[in-house]
Amino acid sequence: MARYTGSVCRLCRREGEKLFLKGDRCYSSKCAVERRSYAPGQHGQGRRGKPSEYGIQLREKQKLRRIYGVLEAQMRRYFDLAERRPGVTGENLLQLLERRLDNVVYRLGLAGSRAEARQLVRHGHFTVNGKKVNIPSYLVSVGDEIQLKESSKKSTRIQELLEELGARSVPEWLELDVENAKGRVLSLPTREQIDTPIEEHLIIEYYSR
Ligand code: SF4
Repeated sequence: MARYTGSVCRLCRREGEKLFLKGDRCYSSKCAVERRSYAPGQHGQGRRGKPSEYGIQLREKQKLRRIYGVLEAQMRRYFDLAERRPGVTGENLLQLLERRLDNVVYRLGLAGSRAEARQLVRHGHFTVNGKKVNIPSYLVSVGDEIQLKESSKKSTRIQELLEELGARSVPEWLELDVENAKGRVLSLPTREQIDTPIEEHLIIEYYSR
């Protein structure tokens, strides 16, 4: 399945806000949104008309996809799953995305960005409850233990990440054991515990058209 391989900073510029797709660079003055706060491309600086209702919903959905690095078909599947579950569909959707293993690795601070987390998971650097899991979309459950493999600690990049481990705040629904580079899922995240800047009702409206 085709994955976007262009500049991720273009995606932030397209959405007109920082989506934090690149790790440390996003917090520095090198951030492309701070340097060029207009949309990319030839017409990026041109005047844009008022977006339609559909346009606003589409942009919000694209923003969510880009933040979590999920393809359209996958997002649609998450939406269908969220809709079938009891509770509020928007909250269910965000909860499913948060439960992805690559997101959990990122949230624990074991990767600088979700894209890096996805790559580290794919390369088999993590175990869940003692078993190797190399599927970024794996959904964690309450009580699951996510651990960096001992043999992976030799990698230079992972050593850099371990030096910084614990510096970033970890969401309440996760627990981080810095000493053992291990995390545990304490509960499923509630909407209040998910800081993703998204108006999920727009995405529900988009898919319900
Ligand atoms: Fe987005 Fe980060 Fe690039 Fe800034 S540096 S434009 S926040 S990906």
